Amino acid sequence: MAAILPALALAVTATGCGSKGGAPSNTGSAPAGVQLVNAGKLTTCTGLPYKPFEYEEGGKVIGFDVDLMDIAAKKLGVTQDIVDTPFDGIQSGVDLNSGKCDIAAAGMTITDVRKQNFDFSDPYFDATQALVVKKGGATDIPQLKGKKLGYQNGTTGQEYAQKNGDGVELVNFEDLGLMLNAVETGQVDAGINDNGVLYDWVKDHGDFAVVKEFDTGEKYGIGVKKGNDALLKVINEAIAEAKSSGDYEKFYVKWFGKKPGEK
Ligand code: GLN
Repeated sequence: MAAILPALALAVTATGCGSKGGAPSNTGSAPAGVQLVNAGKLTTCTGLPYKPFEYEEGGKVIGFDVDLMDIAAKKLGVTQDIVDTPFDGIQSGVDLNSGKCDIAAAGMTITDVRKQNFDFSDPYFDATQALVVKKGGATDIPQLKGKKLGYQNGTTGQEYAQKNGDGVELVNFEDLGLMLNAVETGQVDAGINDNGVLYDWVKDHGDFAVVKEFDTGEKYGIGVKKGNDALLKVINEAIAEAKSSGDYEKFYVKWFGKKPGEK
């Protein structure tokens, strides 16, 4: 069902190609103590597409998370290099712990299980699970009994669907794009994912609607390998500075068309 992506992540970047692998290095002007997997780069793992947090347009990866982490890269005196890799390897900690990336910025919810495998930055975004359907379809999960509900592999949406989808046929997709494509073509009757990405999608898919939010009270954090406290500190400073400087609000308006907290 889900497309198999190449084992070696595809590096997509606006700023040139970073060499992969090798020992952690601290060249460039990164502050003392900050270890980076590729010299002169902040290497970021993310799972595309996750619009408007991260997606490709015109050969570049853009989005809210990208803008926010560009501030961290700037503080480090390096450029951000984005590695597209399946979300499941991001959220399990495998990508950070194998040295594929310095950070994971992937619209990723802070959870207790994930916190055992890597560290999270301070929370930077509120989210909740939501249901997307073709207009006139189901308006809640119980109405999907005997029908198909699509979810994205390794996500909190998967967890929610498995807990609450008694009698519903759950269908796994590798990424959000594949899941939404299945909703669009009627291959599944509904899809579950975070509210931000679903509201963004229905903006240009007028036959579809977000019919329910589940109030899961999630908060996104940036993932950093355990032990890289110097880098975690820079990421937290970047988030705090973005909020105090007005950049956070600017990015929010740019990517969501409204200010934080506005309906
Ligand atoms: N926020 C959800 C999670 O962390 C989905 C993230 C994603 O698919 N990029 O599981």
